[in-house]
Amino acid sequence: MTQFTDLGLAKPLLKALADEGYDVPTPIQAQAIPGVMTGKDLLGIAQTGTGKTAAFALPILHRLAENKKPAPRRSARVLVLAPTRELATQIGESFKTYGKHLGVSVAVVFGGVKYGGQMRALAPGVDVLVATPGRLLDHLGEKTITLEGVEILVLDEADQMLDMGFIVPIRKIVKFVPKVRQNLFFSATWPTEIEKLAAEILNPNPVKVSVTPQATTVEKVNQRVLFVEQQRKRALLGELFDDAAFKRVIVFTRTKRGADRVARGLEQSGVDAAAIHGDKSQGQRERALADFKAGKVRVLVATDIAARGIDIDAVSHVVQYDLPNVPEAYVHRIGRTARAGADGSAVAFCSDDERNLLKDIERVSRQRIPSFDRRNDRHLGAATAAMPDPGGKPERADTRGTRGQPKRNRNHGAGGGRAEGAPARSADKPAFKGPSRGENRGRGGGAGRSGGSHGGGRTGGAERSSAPTGVWSNR
Ligand code: AMP
Repeated sequence: MTQFTDLGLAKPLLKALADEGYDVPTPIQAQAIPGVMTGKDLLGIAQTGTGKTAAFALPILHRLAENKKPAPRRSARVLVLAPTRELATQIGESFKTYGKHLGVSVAVVFGGVKYGGQMRALAPGVDVLVATPGRLLDHLGEKTITLEGVEILVLDEADQMLDMGFIVPIRKIVKFVPKVRQNLFFSATWPTEIEKLAAEILNPNPVKVSVTPQATTVEKVNQRVLFVEQQRKRALLGELFDDAAFKRVIVFTRTKRGADRVARGLEQSGVDAAAIHGDKSQGQRERALADFKAGKVRVLVATDIAARGIDIDAVSHVVQYDLPNVPEAYVHRIGRTARAGADGSAVAFCSDDERNLLKDIERVSRQRIPSFDRRNDRHLGAATAAMPDPGGKPERADTRGTRGQPKRNRNHGAGGGRAEGAPARSADKPAFKGPSRGENRGRGGGAGRSGGSHGGGRTGGAERSSAPTGVWSNR
């Protein structure tokens, strides 16, 4: 079996990998690293959980180490574009982890935070800049940064960027990057628009690597659907948490207020929960994630916009309180569990007016999900009647923090947007009873420079993170 030591990576990288306890490259790493190290472009069809971040970070860091030179002023040698702040932060942290014995400077820049710290930090230039497209375009507009020094361009989660309306910003950004460059392009899925974008950006004959198609996530995760009246979902959720096996759980809702209500409801019933969505400040989002990772709260309640790409080990269960409007999101959501070879289970609630969404999900993920009918359940009825109202109003879908609206979710207007306790449209008309179809079918900022002498008090220490400005450095 190939080991990292067989790939010819620079010694400081091997040392960092050994520090992490990683000996064996994942398939995408074994296939991508040798070609990228020699300067070839890469087209990777892969989703998070495959080790794709290291698949690009390691060979990029190797190339930087082979060809050491000062980072260009107000620019970067490597530009990584990522759709969300969380993913950008995670990628930045990976560069920081793998590059810790190399002394590279890394910056993470995203929206929703002040510009000042980012501007000051970018001024001297950085080796690696990880950015979300919107804020990067703002910096380009203000001329606080140029992309003239970029040698390597990475686009991560291109299909997510498409969904978030970032394709036009990406095309604009690419125009600022020198034509002669190395390109690494990653997408979990391969719609026509992404194929077109890849053809525009990549040099001819890139190395192509395709790993872990969606079906693999689908097979790994133990899934079930529970049919339930919309207004009884909260009681059903409470029932799930009576089971101690629900140790570290992400609950997905469709709306921001839905996420707040569900989190409050859980707290009311004695289950520690934190909510994460686009209306939370950067600090609140980071605190919620940190508390969840540290096991201080048992449940993270999230909207899709905040949760995509988040990599948290040992998530025991994913609960979909509302089904997503975009069927692909179902697969991304369940992919938050069963990571790094661990077991994972996913439970989805489906009210009668979400049936069409379930059909779409089963079609897209090519599976029949085992389902169980909990409608007209007296116990849930009694539990619902006994619950205090968690407060809050229904609200629109979580699109804040993106520059565009998700494009494909116009087919549904029910579910999470309705106040809990309000009547579901057809709750009292069960289509069928008992264990239902599918059962027994199995599972189908900104950067500081070297020396930490940078202004703004935001840089310096190797482990220092300055989340409120979205800026940090590892030098
Ligand atoms: P990613 O697909 O980049 O989100 O990575 C998924 C998870 O796998 C992350 O927690 C990585 O730290 C971890 N990981 C990446 N490469 C390896 C490896 N070769 N061996 C073990 N774990 C890895």
